[in-house]
Amino acid sequence: MYLSETIARKMICDIGKKMYSKNFVSANDGNITIRIADNVLLVTPTGISKGDLTESMLIKVDLDGRIIEGDYKPTSELSMHLQVYKENDAIQSTCHAHCPHLTALAVAGIELDVPTSAAASGLVGRIPVAPYQCPGSKELANSIIPYVKDYNIVNLGNHGPLSWGTDPMGAWYIMESAESACELAFNIKKYLDGKVRPLTIKQTEELFAFHHVKRSSAAWLTCPNTTDNQEPAVSFSSYFDIKLGIDNA
Ligand SMILES: [Zn+2]
Repeated sequence: MYLSETIARKMICDIGKKMYSKNFVSANDGNITIRIADNVLLVTPTGISKGDLTESMLIKVDLDGRIIEGDYKPTSELSMHLQVYKENDAIQSTCHAHCPHLTALAVAGIELDVPTSAAASGLVGRIPVAPYQCPGSKELANSIIPYVKDYNIVNLGNHGPLSWGTDPMGAWYIMESAESACELAFNIKKYLDGKVRPLTIKQTEELFAFHHVKRSSAAWLTCPNTTDNQEPAVSFSSYFDIKLGIDNA
């Protein structure tokens, strides 16, 4: 079951505006596709800011990248999006951006595996990093193949994230959640000396089962068997040794 072309065109423009307004892309970076039939996608054009997209700018292509309809030229990064659909029939949307926290990890070659908040851990899972390949190249499209079936997203090395989803908004939600999971991890490292009371394997299994999240073993986070998240919370003032000027004597 696919979205109507009219709704899909509007949805791509809406996602583009969100992407641009959240600083997930600059200049004309980023690209979005939605599948509207077995062998038909809508894709964003090259050279246009995602904040300025209009519905008539989108191009209709087949799964081999041949243009079916449209006045603009498709993104030069179309081949990696096509590869996602070729590898997994269930996918209905893909999304690529250069979100600041995800791209920092892509540049450093660090995959995110920390089981932090339920929201950050529940939707996205582990965020792997693919080896660098030149943007737009066949090699880049091939580099994502090992990740498409087992993960929800891959962080392209020295480049940025590519996400996918089995419903039309799915890829965008994964992208947004993944960036917020990375930002949370950076904040934990920056402000809290990396202190985490992680989710355990059991808690994570319960979370996925409750929300019907399918998760391959590859996409699991690094969950311990035990945790201290049932212990009483520490007060902010004592953890950071903040003097409140109150004489408790
Ligand atoms: Zn890119």
